[in-house]
Parts: sequence; C-alpha cells; structure tokens
Amino acid sequence: MNTNFLKQLGLNKSNEGTWTGRKSVGKSTEFIESYSPVDGKLIGKVGITSEKDYTKVVRKAEDAFKKWRKVPAPKRGEVIRQYGDALRENKDALGRLVSYEMGKSLQEGWGEVQEMIDICDFAVGLSRQLYGLTMHSERPGHRMYEQWHPLGIVGIISAFNFPVAVWSWNAMIAMVCGDVCIWKASEKTPLCAIACNNIFQKVLKANKVPEGVNCIINGDYKVGEYMTYDPRVPLISATGSSRMGKIVGSVVASRLGKSLLELGGNNAIIVTPNSDLNVVLAGAVFGAVGTCGQRCTSTRRLIIHESIYSKVSSQLKKAYKQLKIGNPLDPNMHVGPLIDKDAVEAYLNSIKAIKEQGGKMLVPGGVLKGDEYDSGCYVKPCIAEVENHYKIVQHETFAPILYLIKYNELEEAIQMQNNVPQGLSSAIMTNNLKEAELFLSSAGSDCGIANVNIGTSGAEIGGAFGGEKETGGGRESGSDAWKAYMRRQTNTINYSDELPLAQGIKFDL
Ligand code: NAD
Repeated sequence: MNTNFLKQLGLNKSNEGTWTGRKSVGKSTEFIESYSPVDGKLIGKVGITSEKDYTKVVRKAEDAFKKWRKVPAPKRGEVIRQYGDALRENKDALGRLVSYEMGKSLQEGWGEVQEMIDICDFAVGLSRQLYGLTMHSERPGHRMYEQWHPLGIVGIISAFNFPVAVWSWNAMIAMVCGDVCIWKASEKTPLCAIACNNIFQKVLKANKVPEGVNCIINGDYKVGEYMTYDPRVPLISATGSSRMGKIVGSVVASRLGKSLLELGGNNAIIVTPNSDLNVVLAGAVFGAVGTCGQRCTSTRRLIIHESIYSKVSSQLKKAYKQLKIGNPLDPNMHVGPLIDKDAVEAYLNSIKAIKEQGGKMLVPGGVLKGDEYDSGCYVKPCIAEVENHYKIVQHETFAPILYLIKYNELEEAIQMQNNVPQGLSSAIMTNNLKEAELFLSSAGSDCGIANVNIGTSGAEIGGAFGGEKETGGGRESGSDAWKAYMRRQTNTINYSDELPLAQGIKFDL
C-alpha cells in the first residue's frame, strides 16, 4: 500500500492533536491510534486533548473572536476562497487519506473533498450576502431593520463517516459569518482532522488570521463533553447517532445553549409500478451498498408495490451477485470495509435479529475471510424481506443491510415510509405526476429530504441538509442554513424629535 499521501499532508506516525490554527498547544500524554479498516495497519497516532489544553484552546478562541468578528465578511470570505484553492491542490492526497482511514471508495473520498471545495465557493458568495430585512415602522420618523451578528465559538462534533466534509459544511459557513470554530472530529478518523488543519495553516498564516479562529481538539465523547457543558460555546453543531444527539441536545439545552443536530437516518425509497426499473436499480443498489451502507442517507428500506415486487427483488439479487467487495482504493471494487470490528458485530447482530423477528434473508450476509480481507472489516451486502414494524427495521444499523417491504396502496407506502423514528432522506421512484406530487405534499414524506427519481443517498451542498424527528431537526450547508451560526438583532432608529411609544401608550411626565 503506497502511503506517500500521508507525507504530502504533513502527517507523521505521532501527531499532536490540539491546535489553535498554526500552533499546536497540546502536550498530549495519551494518544488515539488510528488503524485503517482497509488493511488493518496502524496509520498513525494523534494526541488526546486534556482538559487543561482544552481551556487553553477556548481562551485562544475567545481572543480570536474579538478580532475576527471585526474583519469585514467579504475579507473573511477571501480566506475561505484561498482554503478552497489549497484543497484543490491537495484533493488527491486528502481523498486518499479519507478512503484509507475511513474505508470509503477512493472516488467517494475525492467526492468528499470536492464537497469541501464546493462549500468554500458557496461560503465565499455568502460572505457578500448574509442579508437582513428592513421593515416599515408603525411609528413616524422611525426606521426598523434586522441584522445578523456572529455567535462566538462554534463547537463542531463530527462523525466518522464523513470525516472531512461535514466539518467544512459547518466551519466554512461559520467562519464567513464571523464565528470561530473548535472541531472535535470522530475518534475513529482523527488523522483526517489533522490533515485538514495542516492544509489550512498556510492559508491562515498568509492572511495573518488570528490564532484561535480554527481550532482542533481530539479524543472520544469525553473531549466532546468539554464543549457541550461549556457555556463559553454558544452553539454546538453535532453530527452522529441519534443516541449521541439525545445526550448532547439535552446537555446543551440545560445551559440554554443552541444545538444544531444532524443525526441518524432510516431512509426509504418507494417504488411504484410507474417507475423506471433501471433508475430504481441504480438508485437502490448505490444507496444501499455505497460507503458500505455507512451514509446517514444510505437506503435502508425499499417499499415496493406488490405487483412488481418479485421482478424488483429478483433484479436486485442479480445486481448483488455482481458486486465486487475489496480494497476501496482499487477502482474496480464497489464495496469497501466497515469502519471497525464493532461495526461488523453490530451488522451480524442485526442479521440475527432480522431472522429472530420473522424476516427472511433473500441475499445472505456474512464476514469475508482471506488475505485481502485481513482487517476483518469486510462484509457481504445483504437483502432481507421484512415488515416495516419489526423492531430491527425501526433501528438504523450502520451497515449494508437492505430491507424489502411490500405495499398495496401509495398512501399506505407513504405511511410506512414515515413510520420510523428517524426523518432524514426519502425518495419515490415514479413517472406519474400525481404520485410524485402526493409524495412531496404536506401529506407526503415527513423527511428533511424528499426526492423523485433519485435515490436517498447523498445531497448537493446548495440545499439545506438535515432531517426531522430523531434526525435532530438541524440544517447545515446551503440555502439559509447560515442563520444557525448567527444571532439576529432587531434595530429601531428614531430620527424624529419625539418619542412615540408603541401600542399607542401615553406616558406624559
Ligand atoms: P457517534 O454518535 O458514535 O459519534 C459521533 C461523534 O459524537 C463522535 O465525534 C463522538 O466522539 C461524539 N460523541 C459521542 N457521544 C458524545 C457525547 N455524549 N458528548 C459529546 N460528544 C459525543 O456516531 P458515528 O458512529 O461516528 O457516526 C455514525 C452516525 O452518524 C450514524 O447514526 C449516522 O446516521 C450519523 N450521521 C448523520 C449525519 C447527518 O447529517 N444527519 C451525517 C453523518 C453521520
């Protein structure tokens, strides 16, 4: 395995894990070891942030905020533009690291870096917008408007499956808004965070950006808790499981902080008799097995009309036979490994539960053995015939397990699609306008994302990304998601010689 990309990204066997931009402020005595799920080899170590070092980081971030908020937004955008260019130069190396440390295909690794570049471009445009509204005052000689100010420190907690893009969705937008960021990446992909910071350093230095605008801390949930309990961090943006979100959401709410939660999904595609089978197969197979079923938008359920059920299931079985499972850096492979052996165990436990709860395996699963599967993390994508109400179907298993469910009436299918605790992504496959519009209507999908003739997996950065119910309700990335990173202020200016009170109140002295 050629790992020259590690050198290009400035990564060593042992890396400091606490940064305030250009400077490492840590003196770690404990380290996270990052093993590749691709070949099971140790890639490198990253220092765990101590509580003492966290305090140093927050102080630096607080100082930096006082300066950064005064930099005009388009100038902040210029820094982000340059970071986008630096990412373009490092796209190949960073994409390879994402693929090697997380296990997704190289194409998806590059795709993730491309998303970072795209969000930089979006943020640059945004830096000349951040519009407020002007309203007509009810009082004579008064002007009223609203404006948006930065919040301060944004704490970003991210998941392993999008180890670089999700941070950039938050950080690039937050930085043009005038916030400063502290990022705690997943303990499963810590080197990706160090690499992003290494690429950023030169840009920050060239632009004399105050130390503390972009900080990195490292470790597991305990390091995340330094931020969630910290009232100096007004916004916590947390991406990960619904289990984590329930804890983080309540901790942050108990100190009346803001949280932006991007949590688990349980995404379904409804396949009607009016669908194009080629589109269905491409959308469903990529959605279910892409990133080895470890996308928050992975397709977990296919709700198929009974009249085409056997045709769709037999075509799927045929397609699954052709899947090539192996090293994700090899472009001939369709499916890479799961992130670690715990994920493999969760996958096996879910298969057991499917059978116990009455499901039937149509394409059986299993763990692959052999030299090229040495890491022990390669599994077979599988398909099970189930009913929507099964306990296991209601739960997000982060693995390539696809559930097939039959329906009779479209309303019933929509009800099944909505009848899970999560509400992230959804899709309908149909060429019938009435079916599509019903699915998109207020009586249709209850998810944050609803697609027609596109699978559930993935999304463009231009739209607001996120979902409802146990997905957490947060929106990141495009559209007006930037508002979550700012505080709104209503201003009224009296340019008359009198002080008329609102509601006609008289207060004569
Ligand atoms: P996870 O919940 O195990 O961990 C996510 C992050 O939260 C990690 O950095 C972890 O250290 C931190 N964390 C966990 N408990 C914490 C606590 N109590 N306090 C502070 N921090 C804490 O998730 P994961 O296994 O890394 O990622 C997979 C999950 O993420 C899936 O459920 C997936 O659907 C979800 N996800 C959602 C989105 C989205 O945008 N909706 C995107 C990517 C992933």
